[in-house]
Amino acid sequence: MENNDNNINEKRCVLCNKPYNYKYKMFGRRCLDNLYGLLEFSKPPKFIWNKETYLCTRIAWRNHKIFLSKNKKYSLAQKYIALNYLNRMNCRFLDDIKEKISKDINDISVFSRNIVSTISFELNDIYRLFNYTQKFDELIEELQNINWEKVDEKVAENFIKSMSFIFTITKEINPISYAVFYSMQYTFWQVVVIGGMLKDKKLSARLLSNSLSLPEKKPEDLTIQDSITDELLMKSKVFNDKLKELIEKYGKETDMFDIKDYEKDGISLKFEGGDLLYSLHKAILFVKARKNEDNTWNLEGEINDTYDFTEFKDLKEYADNKEAILTDILSTLLNNFGVVSSEYGVIKTYNVKIKFIFSNYEIKGMMK
Ligand SMILES: [Zn+2]
Repeated sequence: MENNDNNINEKRCVLCNKPYNYKYKMFGRRCLDNLYGLLEFSKPPKFIWNKETYLCTRIAWRNHKIFLSKNKKYSLAQKYIALNYLNRMNCRFLDDIKEKISKDINDISVFSRNIVSTISFELNDIYRLFNYTQKFDELIEELQNINWEKVDEKVAENFIKSMSFIFTITKEINPISYAVFYSMQYTFWQVVVIGGMLKDKKLSARLLSNSLSLPEKKPEDLTIQDSITDELLMKSKVFNDKLKELIEKYGKETDMFDIKDYEKDGISLKFEGGDLLYSLHKAILFVKARKNEDNTWNLEGEINDTYDFTEFKDLKEYADNKEAILTDILSTLLNNFGVVSSEYGVIKTYNVKIKFIFSNYEIKGMMK
């Protein structure tokens, strides 16, 4: 059977792209068989000589189209099969594309002059995307069952690595691939990172969540003032030490100051770890302070930052400040994924403002 001459006219299945040498025009025999099942058609009767043409005719009938030319019938079949695969994908950004393909299907009739494709595609690409989403759905289910607090570091890393395939492409021009990869990355950040790894890091989870928006949408800037964030600040040594430094510098004589009067660009803050480090990367502090009789301080201020995932690179600086398992994984793998998702437009940049008002704040380590 092996014959080099065959390669010249080698036919490849439009679905799986494997070579075949049967009489069919589009599909290998195995794929054609599977398509009958996939589209829920009963098996063709034995006397049907060309089961491929027969399938296309059945598809045309199902779409209430008769007397189509062979070309139209084949084109209709490809669009119909593509739509069927897209409907099976668990992808939230395909509605627009599915609508276009449906319209193209509707527009095929015995009277139509040309076959119009509002959206063009290769069936093989759709088939590959379908297989990616199948694999992704399986993995994401496993990942949802991981306890990120207790999981072994190596195991966790391997899990995250197994998802790399959804980050291996650069921004695709093909709108169908773009939508599918966008959806998988979006789900990854929502489910694995926000719902799993960052479960106990509420501020980071909220900020990352806000940066994930629908395609073509810009996230809104965030202003945050709540007890969770207040507590993070009050517990932070970096925050406390910075206030102490500022009070010693500007508040000694006057017992009150507004940092804007001295440093109009604010004071840069680099957090030491935990939720604040994952949330804020190039934070700028503004604060007004007034001393009370009991040596405590009333503080009112804000911390401003631009949420930009690519700045997670800075996490590598904290490599020796190991904080459980997250630091290590976030600083390497997740950072790379984050950069891809930023380029892809899944993770978007926006401005964050954290406001705080503390009364009777006691500065730790301060001489009375
Ligand atoms: Zn095939």
